[in-house]
Amino acid sequence: MKLHEYQSKQLFAQQAIPIPRGRVAMTAAEAKSIAEELRGRVVVKAQVLVGGRGKAGGIRLANSPEEALEIATQILAMQIKGLPVRKVLVDEAANIQAEIYLGVTNDRAARRPVMIASAEGGVEIEEVARTAPSKIARLHVDPLLGLREYQARDLAASIELPREHWRAFIDIARGLYEAYRECDATLAEINPLVITGAGTLLALDGKMVVDDNALFRRPKLAEMRDLDEEAAAESEARKYGLSYVKLDGDIGCMVNGAGLAMATMDVIKLAGGAPANFLDIGGGAGADKVAAALEIILSDKSVRAVLLNVFGGITRCDEVARGILMALQDVPLSVPMVTRLVGTNEEEGRRLLAAKDLPTATTLAEAARLAVAAARQGVAA
Ligand code: GDP
Ligand code: MN
Repeated sequence: MKLHEYQSKQLFAQQAIPIPRGRVAMTAAEAKSIAEELRGRVVVKAQVLVGGRGKAGGIRLANSPEEALEIATQILAMQIKGLPVRKVLVDEAANIQAEIYLGVTNDRAARRPVMIASAEGGVEIEEVARTAPSKIARLHVDPLLGLREYQARDLAASIELPREHWRAFIDIARGLYEAYRECDATLAEINPLVITGAGTLLALDGKMVVDDNALFRRPKLAEMRDLDEEAAAESEARKYGLSYVKLDGDIGCMVNGAGLAMATMDVIKLAGGAPANFLDIGGGAGADKVAAALEIILSDKSVRAVLLNVFGGITRCDEVARGILMALQDVPLSVPMVTRLVGTNEEEGRRLLAAKDLPTATTLAEAARLAVAAARQGVAA
């Protein structure tokens, strides 16, 4: 679960990380009154759960409450990367001397958290990783010991932070690590952490991603979920009890069982393709669930072919086939679909699909090859 900037910053403040004064507003009039309270220059910031809001025009400075009203009106009417802006954060504007990146995330390969810092903050860290990888400092943290003071100091030295800021940086880094740990986060990020004109450090932006599997023991965080802002596909998937994760490729996958779904993604890669998503329709998925899953996959514009892999046990192949046919009545198939159905009632399932000219494969390897070929043809066409 992603948290908004204003929510993340509140959690940071609980760890004594300095943040600008400010509040969130749902309307432009509210934004104006916050600007009046704050006095002086403010920054009006779109609260949407995507990065790069600055570049998209979702972050603007206002010199007066009237200007804040005008800018908030404009920003609240915007869409950023397809997401409508429903809230703005109005913060006291900062005088920025330098922008630093500071984040902590899980390093699964190392089986421990990794703290990441860079003197090249303000831009996305993926961008820095591409263009100036040597400007990124990494430090693994022993989860039993936490982030030690000397480690945070090493990090400050690695990014060549001027020495007068070390004390503040160490406290912020340790606070950020605590926020990450206490929230069962998979990411806690301050970008930018700025050095202000007054010579202090200030967390200007905040981002947190909380592990969904930990929400049961973090009820306060679970309440912070913003259903309005979630990608429609993800809330749809949750509604139907489907596990759906969007990925970067172009082959939509619908599979029963998480293990089989992962294996399917591997075989797609082996065939030279790339999966567009992970989707587990689960055991015993009925027709309506299959229909919902197909709609979710097809709503992703980058999908160029769909691979359906069902190993029928509890899930009956004919049920799955009926689900597909039902879904196709509502959502016409905009891309080719390859199906591999084996197990309980497979003949009946295949017969139902074949009657509608939907190709089926018997092995997963064959299905993956066909799906990759179909996706490529789609690109060429
Ligand atoms: P993002 O684009 O979604 O990452 O949003 P950020 O909150 O990181 O803001 C993007 C950029 O806007 C920052 O890197 C700053 O350069 C600028 N910015 C944000 N807040 C302020 C502010 O208070 N004063 C000034 N001068 N610039 C700001
Ligand atoms: Mn940022």
